[in-house]
Amino acid sequence: MKETIIKGIPAAPGIAIGKAFVLDKQEFVVPPRYIMPQEVSVEIARFEEALNKAKYEIEEIQKRIAEEIGEEHSKIFDGHIMVLQDKTMMGEVIKQIQEDKMSAEFVFSEVLKKYSKIFEKMEDEYIKERVSDISDVGRRVLKNLTNEYKLHDFENLTNDLIIVSYDLSPSDTASMFNKKILAFCTDVGGKTSHSAIMAKSLGIPAVVGLKDATLRIRNQDTIIVDGRKGLVIINPSGDTRKEYESVQDRINEFKDQYQNIKDLPAETLDGHQVQLYANLELPEEIPLVQQQNANGIGLYRTEYFYMNRVDLPSEEEQFKAYKHVAEAVAPKQITIRSLDLGGDKFLSSLQIPKEMYPSLGWRAIRFCLAQPEIFKTQLRAILRASHYGKIRLMYPMISGLSELKQANAVLDEVKKGLMDEKIPFDQELPVGVMIEVPSAAMTADILSQEADFFSIGTNDLIQYTLAIDRVNEQTANLYEPSHPAILRLIKKTIDSGQTAGINVSLCGEMSGEPISALLLLGMGLKEFSMSPLSLLQIKKLVRSVNYSDAKLLADEVLNLSTGEEVERVARKRLKDLAPNVFEIAAEE
Ligand code: PEP
Ligand code: MG
Repeated sequence: MKETIIKGIPAAPGIAIGKAFVLDKQEFVVPPRYIMPQEVSVEIARFEEALNKAKYEIEEIQKRIAEEIGEEHSKIFDGHIMVLQDKTMMGEVIKQIQEDKMSAEFVFSEVLKKYSKIFEKMEDEYIKERVSDISDVGRRVLKNLTNEYKLHDFENLTNDLIIVSYDLSPSDTASMFNKKILAFCTDVGGKTSHSAIMAKSLGIPAVVGLKDATLRIRNQDTIIVDGRKGLVIINPSGDTRKEYESVQDRINEFKDQYQNIKDLPAETLDGHQVQLYANLELPEEIPLVQQQNANGIGLYRTEYFYMNRVDLPSEEEQFKAYKHVAEAVAPKQITIRSLDLGGDKFLSSLQIPKEMYPSLGWRAIRFCLAQPEIFKTQLRAILRASHYGKIRLMYPMISGLSELKQANAVLDEVKKGLMDEKIPFDQELPVGVMIEVPSAAMTADILSQEADFFSIGTNDLIQYTLAIDRVNEQTANLYEPSHPAILRLIKKTIDSGQTAGINVSLCGEMSGEPISALLLLGMGLKEFSMSPLSLLQIKKLVRSVNYSDAKLLADEVLNLSTGEEVERVARKRLKDLAPNVFEIAAEE
């Protein structure tokens, strides 16, 4: 078969060679299973039991939501109950089990597909929206029928495979941890979409935004995923394969080279020290953070804890998880970010209305302030855990001082409650702000009066400043970290922090990219937080250059007019100042 190369967006570095496993775009992928005639009544009983269990589960969630955030919010689940009680649909399942003699889960999944298709075609928006109720209920009933049904189930993979999918949600990628997955590629997505960020944490190569990979690649095709250049090679020739195998060897050699600086400080040749922290999505990544000897955790994305489940995590559950991470990393510091739901991270347990522009909508701190019970539960858990390690707390997506004050007022209320109950917590817990909305960067001097530290979130800052959807492959080429507007906002934030005497960290993807990291170093950034696997490369970079040279470069590029010019000058300077890191970065 002829070798074909398709190009997408590089999302996580590395090379993988293996067999493709193409995930069906349809949500319900249940293999057909025939049953014996005498099993029909058992299958029907199993189906009815799964429906009853689903109804009970939904009612329980409704009860909890009514108690925690009010009766009206629990009503969103009424649609689910209606689907479950739909006599036509459920009657059809029973009839087909009897006639076709197939398993309840297979028949049910086929009927669900049929109804979803009918509803999708309807003109009426209200009816169209019922499709998501059908698929949520469907997943729940299938889970009950099979005990462990998941949308994309990676549990039972027996061979090393490369996942090819139209899309992967952050919760899908989170469930790939420690599975036999060599790499993944998707039709949609951008460089800083959360599934791409997760791929970096998993240490597997990924290419996103390939547009039609699921159409061009077939199950069991041999493919090469080149995460450095954003290429996927389908049915590679013998020569191509050999070439890539030798690149793989070189990458492994480079990685070994970094190991010997693991325990050395991130200090420039002229003695300027910075701190390198790791970003954490899942507690399972802690050993990796420890292996790289990070200075601590600069961003703990807690929303992953809320994913892949049908309910919200309780205070106790959260407390245990945060305590576990804090104790594992102690005496080093961890920075816990309060729930940053929204954008491409949505939670299956919360039925949030679909929005036209999710990134600009009801997300992060806005959501938490509107849902104080969910927010307070998390804050209590974080505060309680702060007694057991060195924890900092930060709020995502703060847009100005009033929002920060509102969040702090909720925090004060929670603290008071804990004090009344005599539950210990760190009274000095530092509370910081993520600077990821342009209005926050522009008012960093004002925010610094009320914040103990800043953490610049460039993934969102770039999205909001340049008006580019970070998960959209169509605009991925416009996503420009070197744009003068971005550099100026970062510089303004660093300077405001310095004037106010508070720490400034940067936890977006820019921290882990050599060219950007060199600029940030020169701009005076002292704390970098990144995917643990980028950490040693950035340490190598810091240890290879003079701070004075990085500063000269930063001063020079801050006066340039376009992102391309900045990129060109900085790339050349990186090559001159740290040729070794430059070459490795280009190879990776
Ligand atoms: C950011 O926006 O840069 C950031 C670190 O947060 P997230 O990627 O989770 O939005
Ligand atoms: Mg963000």
